Amino acid sequence: MSNYNGPVCRLCRREGMKLFLKGERCYTEKCAVENRPDQVPGEHGKGRSKFSEFGIRLREKQKVKRMYGLTEKQFNRYFEKASRVKGVTGKLLISLLELRLDNLLYRLGFASSRKEARQMVRHGHILVNGSKVDVSSFEVKVGDVIEVAEKSRKIERINQSLDSLARRGFPNWIELDRGHYKGIIKKLPAREDVTIPIEEQLIVEFYSRV
Ligand code: SF4
Repeated sequence: MSNYNGPVCRLCRREGMKLFLKGERCYTEKCAVENRPDQVPGEHGKGRSKFSEFGIRLREKQKVKRMYGLTEKQFNRYFEKASRVKGVTGKLLISLLELRLDNLLYRLGFASSRKEARQMVRHGHILVNGSKVDVSSFEVKVGDVIEVAEKSRKIERINQSLDSLARRGFPNWIELDRGHYKGIIKKLPAREDVTIPIEEQLIVEFYSRV
């Protein structure tokens, strides 16, 4: 998250749900949301207060923004782009976010979190269709092949992340060739393919009011 350097578990506790920001820890009993599900961080944070209608919509937007590790400006740009395309804006928004390169590395299991995926991209470990890509927001298309560079395939954390992929679940719209450290985008993700507990319509309503 480029604009937040504090403890990330705090963000999950703030939103009252797992945002999967800390890699493997998120899938263990050490997860702060599992341990303290009803406690909101902060000095008055003993319980969860009721939100206004605006607050409910704002929180939904914040959850998605934080989950994908975006700044406000970046998230606004995705929303604008989704609203320009013909179709259901909320669903298109989720689809666009899923097609970010950092998200795909996380989904394919090459990285244990989107943050780790961004580091991998920055350090030049990733190729798309055979060419190095060092922009984590790179938009992947159907048919694209994402690959860990040959020199990087021995990196322990990449292999550890791949080993624990079964625990995280694997989407049906991508395909992994683990032996060759390659992933292929088979089709565009439909909303039902993305199992995040988010009501994207609330985000659309948020933007229609601001
Ligand atoms: Fe969120 Fe992961 Fe921390 Fe759990 S362990 S609170 S899911 S960042």
